[in-house]
Amino acid sequence: MTVKQLQNEILNLKRKVDITILAHYYQAIEIQEIADFLGDSLILSRIAKEKANTEYIIFAGVDFMAETASIINQDKHVLLPNYDSCCPMAAYLTPEKVREFKKNYPELPAVVYVNSTAAVKAECDVCCTSSNAVKIVKAMKEVHNVDAVLFGPDANLADYAEQISKIKTIKMPENGHCYVHSQITVEDIKAVRKEHPISKLLVHPECVRDVRNLADFVGSTAQMYKYAKDSPSEVQNFIIGTEEGLLERMAQDFPNKNFYVAKEKLICHNMKKHNLELIKYLLENPEDKNHEVKVPIDIAKRALIPIEKMLSYS
Ligand code: SF4
Repeated sequence: MTVKQLQNEILNLKRKVDITILAHYYQAIEIQEIADFLGDSLILSRIAKEKANTEYIIFAGVDFMAETASIINQDKHVLLPNYDSCCPMAAYLTPEKVREFKKNYPELPAVVYVNSTAAVKAECDVCCTSSNAVKIVKAMKEVHNVDAVLFGPDANLADYAEQISKIKTIKMPENGHCYVHSQITVEDIKAVRKEHPISKLLVHPECVRDVRNLADFVGSTAQMYKYAKDSPSEVQNFIIGTEEGLLERMAQDFPNKNFYVAKEKLICHNMKKHNLELIKYLLENPEDKNHEVKVPIDIAKRALIPIEKMLSYS
C-alpha cells in the first residue's frame, strides 16, 4: 500500500471514530499531513485542553507530551501510537533530584521544562516550554521576589533563559540536554554558512550558547515557523537548527523560500518511532490499553498545578 493510500484509509477511518490526532512538528511529514492539529509542545498542550473535544486523542509525539495531554484531559483517553516513544532529556531529572534541590534551595521556585515526567512536574512550581521559558523565569522572580530560580532538566534552555532574562538559573542537573540540538557545533554553523552565505540562521534554545550566539533568531519550533512565515519576500534562505521535521514542514508550506539543515541527520529517533500503520491500528482499536497513557490521579492532580500556572502566564 502506498503512503497516499494509507493516508486516505486513515482519513476515512477518522470520520467514523471520535478521535483527534495531534502531531508535533518533528513527526515525519506523512504523519503531519493527516493530523488534525500540528504544533510544538505549548501549542499542542493548549489544543489538547481547548479544542480536542473527542473521547480519544492520538498523540504523535513523545511520552511527556502525551502525559501532559492526559493530565489536562483526565476524562479522555490519550493514546501513543508507539508506546516506547520517550524523551531521553526527561530522564535527566527525577522527583528525588528535584526534592534534593528544593531542600538545598528552599527559598527558590522550581521551573520545570515540559520535557519532563509527570512525577517531576508534580514536584515543581511552574512549567515552561521553549517558547515561554524567559517569560516564566521573569514571572517567578517577580512573584517570589528572588534573584534566581531552579530550572531543569535542560541546562541549555536554562542557560538561554538566564542569558536573556539576566536571572540566575540553578540547573537541575548541570548536564541535562537534548542529544539532537546539543550536537550542533560552531564548526557546523561555519560550514553551512560558507555554503549558504546569504541565509538567516534560526536555532532552538536547546542548542549550546556558542551556537545560539551565532544565530539571527533563537526560538521554539513554532516561533521559527512564524519567523520564516513573516519574513519579507526578499529574505529567501534559512538555515534551520532543529529537528528535520520542522524543515520539511516549512519547505512544504513556503515553497518560495529555501531551507537548509544546520547539520546533516538532525533527527530525534524517539519522535520518529510512530508511523501511519500504528495510527491506523489505533483508529481501528482505540480501546487497546497497551497504547493508553494514564497518569496516576494523585500525580496528575499535583502536576496539573504547574501546567495551569504556565498556561496562565502564556
Ligand atoms: S528532540 Fe530532544 S527534547 Fe525533543 S523529544 Fe527528541 S530528545 Fe527530547
